[in-house]
Amino acid sequence: MEKTAIYPGTFDPITYGHVDIIERASKIFDEVIIGVAKETYKECLFSLTERIELAREATKHLPNVIIESFTGLVVDYVRKRNSKVMIRGLRAVSDFEYELQIALANRTLSEEIETVFLIPQSKYLYLSSSLVKQIISTGGSIKEYVPETIREKMELKYKTKVKYELQEDCS
Ligand code: ADP
Repeated sequence: MEKTAIYPGTFDPITYGHVDIIERASKIFDEVIIGVAKETYKECLFSLTERIELAREATKHLPNVIIESFTGLVVDYVRKRNSKVMIRGLRAVSDFEYELQIALANRTLSEEIETVFLIPQSKYLYLSSSLVKQIISTGGSIKEYVPETIREKMELKYKTKVKYELQEDCS
């Protein structure tokens, strides 16, 4: 039986930290589906379409990885995709409490779905999409953190927007 894992997140934008987790997951599972969340409690820099495009670009070297959007409860989405595994990345200790809370809440909602935590290379332990946005908005280099095409798109966004304006929602 094919084993499919779902990696849900905002990916605003996808970073080398996310890609590291996806590469690890793609070696363990037959198929990895990246679920880009349409709704999120965060404000987004990139629209849903852009976040999907950037994630596709960053993972094009991985043949068993699929990128798509999802809406609603993540456990419902995992179930709809006939999967029982949800992937999450664990960075520093600061992630632990939040991720544990989410994983336990999801278990309450759906007993049969397991959350699998993967740990990135140590150089990505403190990397987040927010950090990348902060660095670029203050004119710093993000070369080490995102693929070249994403860096170019982010630079363009900041140039054309003059001031860092967030989308009101993430759609
Ligand atoms: P969310 O908005 O759900 O936190 P993100 O797109 O920020 O979504 O992250 C999705 C998942 O990827 C989360 O489990 C997060 O901890 C993980 N993640 C993000 N950045 C990294 C990184 N640098 N290394 C490992 N995991 C990461």
